Amino acid sequence: MGSLTAPPTSSPNRVRVAEPAADGFTTNIAAGSPPETVTHLLDHAVALGASDLFFSAEDGSYSASLRHLGIIRKIGRLPAELARHCLAHIRAEAAMDIAEHRRPQDGRFTHQTGTGKFIDLRVCSMPTLNGEDLSIRVLDREAGALPVDRLGLLPDDREKLGQLLHRPGGLLLVTGPTGSGKTTTLYACLRHLNDGSRRIHAIEDPIECALAGVHQSQPNAKLGLTFPELLRGIVRQGPDVIMIGEIRDAETAHTAVSAANSGHLVLATLHAPVAAGGVASMLAFGVAPHFLATSLIGIVSQRLVRTFCPECRFPIEGDWVNGDPLTPRYAALGCPVCHHSGFGARTALFEVLTVTRPIRSLVQAREPSHVIEDQARREGMTDFLKAANALIASGRTDPDEVKRCVPPDCLGSAEHT
Ligand SMILES: [Zn+2]
Repeated sequence: MGSLTAPPTSSPNRVRVAEPAADGFTTNIAAGSPPETVTHLLDHAVALGASDLFFSAEDGSYSASLRHLGIIRKIGRLPAELARHCLAHIRAEAAMDIAEHRRPQDGRFTHQTGTGKFIDLRVCSMPTLNGEDLSIRVLDREAGALPVDRLGLLPDDREKLGQLLHRPGGLLLVTGPTGSGKTTTLYACLRHLNDGSRRIHAIEDPIECALAGVHQSQPNAKLGLTFPELLRGIVRQGPDVIMIGEIRDAETAHTAVSAANSGHLVLATLHAPVAAGGVASMLAFGVAPHFLATSLIGIVSQRLVRTFCPECRFPIEGDWVNGDPLTPRYAALGCPVCHHSGFGARTALFEVLTVTRPIRSLVQAREPSHVIEDQARREGMTDFLKAANALIASGRTDPDEVKRCVPPDCLGSAEHT
């Protein structure tokens, strides 16, 4: 049995990672002008590597927080008057309608940090009971720079993904919840394929980062230009590879399957809990099982988990993975480098399901996800449980972090370990 059972349980003698100190992420919001305050907060968020910055209206004031390695951290409080001026400044920068406060709005702008780095920001406003909330997504231009080898795939899964990407055509789905790194994986796949020998088109809403040599398009609500319309146009452009940012409607699902069936390699993300669940999600869009079975070549599912800060992690004395003294379990208590959180980065846990002839038959027969999943395991698929145990055995994370990121029903059952 692996070091993590399903549902996972904590071993009694394991050291818990300390709750991060409250001041690990806070910043002194000095009494500057609104533009200075906004610049300070954006620089702070970027310096911490945050993915989002939030302004939340509360009773009488605003709180500022950010999302760091997937976790919300409070960074400070702003007086209501200053916050309103800051929000007005951001809305003006993002070319949003300054007079409209009753409807959600979105906009974009580019911020230059104090260190001279240019950061793309996507701004969304939302009216709430206490006033207007604003969230700012930090679009990471580096996200498209991660190669397939550094996504966190185990060697077997890396090999399987490589084989899938070299198929001449078919549908390859990447599944997982929002914020699980699906787009980073798709970008890595596109970079891998983008060697000048293929014509690659991508549709994203919005385009997260520019990829040289890839023809990227995005829908435009103001023009009434929709995702399905763009996709139909792209199919007529004679592409070899089509990347679909996300399949979120029936028409896109049907067009993706028919493009894959007509010989294009189609890469797309989709919401589904585990790899085998991608089949049910596609069928729920009304795609005929026969067409899905003939086009689908593989499904990758993923979750992001935090990995220990290399500066402060330590082996726990006498606590070994599978009772093996050569593989101690690790913990981290936090240090200034990791803002006292104990975690320094994130990596992905993967399931890579290759559609074989038996699985194709199960898809065609509309068999439920667990039947497809069991067959994939029999054929040697590394499921989330095995991937998590490998990461724990490497001393880079602990079972509590895995439990936080992967729901118990996605960790399979203990009998499979
Ligand atoms: Zn640390």
